[in-house]
Amino acid sequence: MMSVSEIKRRMEEESAEETIQSLFDKIERSKLNAFITLTKEQALEEARKADKNGTRGLLGAVPIAIKDNISTKGIQTTCASKILKGYVPPYDAHVIERLKAEGAIIIGKTNMDEFAMGSSTETSFFGPTRNPHDLSRVPGGSSGGSAAAVAGGEVPIALGSDTGGSVRCPASFCGVVGLKPTYGMVSRYGLISYANSLEQIGPFGCSVEDVALLLDVIAGHDPRDSTSHVMKKNRYVDELKDDVSGLKIGVPEEYFEGVDKDVDNAVRDGITLLEELGASCSEVALPHTKYALASYYIIAMSEASSNLARFDGVRYGLRLEKDKDWHTTFSEIRAEGFGEEVKRRILLGTYALSAGYYGRYYLKALKVRTLIKQDFENAFKKVDVLITPTMPCAAFKIGEKIDDPLSLYLADVNTVPMNLAGVPSISVPCGFANGLPMGMQIIGGHFDEGLILRVAHTFEKHAGVA
Ligand code: GLN
Repeated sequence: MMSVSEIKRRMEEESAEETIQSLFDKIERSKLNAFITLTKEQALEEARKADKNGTRGLLGAVPIAIKDNISTKGIQTTCASKILKGYVPPYDAHVIERLKAEGAIIIGKTNMDEFAMGSSTETSFFGPTRNPHDLSRVPGGSSGGSAAAVAGGEVPIALGSDTGGSVRCPASFCGVVGLKPTYGMVSRYGLISYANSLEQIGPFGCSVEDVALLLDVIAGHDPRDSTSHVMKKNRYVDELKDDVSGLKIGVPEEYFEGVDKDVDNAVRDGITLLEELGASCSEVALPHTKYALASYYIIAMSEASSNLARFDGVRYGLRLEKDKDWHTTFSEIRAEGFGEEVKRRILLGTYALSAGYYGRYYLKALKVRTLIKQDFENAFKKVDVLITPTMPCAAFKIGEKIDDPLSLYLADVNTVPMNLAGVPSISVPCGFANGLPMGMQIIGGHFDEGLILRVAHTFEKHAGVA
């Protein structure tokens, strides 16, 4: 892995062009399958310009990888689906505009679960991504390509999206840092929607500092996303401190149920370390946690069934060879273009929203969502942050869970509640078991990014995991 400061140093010693060329050499030899599209020519051209004219912005000439559900003008954007193969967006997402304004160089679009539906990056039309720590294992998902690319040293930073854990899960499985910001902190303009009331774009890096830096670049108000929050621009990277004295940590035991022993031990050791550094720790209850997963999947699938209606074989991507009437085009293109998991979710979501079942499923899930949000509000009256395992286990084998969707959904048990409540959380590496990394999750109240980044930074400095 390499940090932003290391890559900047290398670019000064050699040149931006040579440094970025060496990344492409590595990616082209790689077995990870972390990328769907590489933007080699444009990236090298921009690197040459930076070498000639000097760099600018917070990310001057720093290479970055982008999850393939974030729109990039002139660069194919597929959501890892056959239905969008060949689709080239005519505009940039807000986050891409921000990255370009700060001088970053996009080196490619990363692999993911189709339409971000999954936790293993196995449902991609372009084949699974592999975990750099063990090629027979999944990198987590759905932003598995972004996490694997950072962990494999193919790029220093990357963007993912997190609807129910898709940044934090692969961060945990690949041993990198990943943050899901507060709902409304980062504009979703140009993010291809899966479940828009839940998702946020989030940064990956090999250190908390790089994640804070990338958040500084992408966060901020954007009038084109009506859920974007009006706030003052923060500089989280300047506020990072090695200090947790007086901090109150809450430990919700609900999040340790059914968690593998190794993960349980590593996270509890992490909490003890923070206590030794001056934090205090107490048990808190989040009593509605057990309903979070069911509520999340009803809401996510319902929103997905509506959001994915726009893929009609006319406007984007895949087309029929011969023109047919609209109804036939719509059914044939969707039958051919969507994978099994996406179809399953459209069917279940449509069912949950249908007359007669709406009240029993969708409305009930929304009520549970409110209770979960209240659990967090009550907890944050007593403590400053909550700490839990990010995932209940380390990375599993490719193929191990793919035929049993429910067991895959269960893996998200500790990451979905924050999306339902809209609160921020970060996953930091907290140890290894049998050569596989594990992640610790630090959760804060709405817009408490500064605080959770500080706790994560302090932990990272003293835990010596990397
Ligand atoms: N694994 C969860 C799902 O399949 C979360 C995915 C995500 O965050 N995009 O819905």
